Amino acid sequence: MPTSICPECSEEVFVEAESEQGDTVICEECSSKLVVVGLDPFELDLNEESGSDGASDDDDLNSYGYDDQNY
Ligand SMILES: [Zn+2]
Repeated sequence: MPTSICPECSEEVFVEAESEQGDTVICEECSSKLVVVGLDPFELDLNEESGSDGASDDDDLNSYGYDDQNY
């Protein structure tokens, strides 16, 4: 079974020989979720859980409210 290096802990991670780009692999060492981003040689990248987006730009909504009173 081919191996690659975990970008998180730099340990060897086993990758199934028939893995394809975009497949996810779990590093047994640090339990990170890794994505296969390259096949020859196998290259792994961290698959960070996409957090909820739009949480930072709520200010625009608050600036509405009071100008609308003359409506
Ligand atoms: Zn790892």
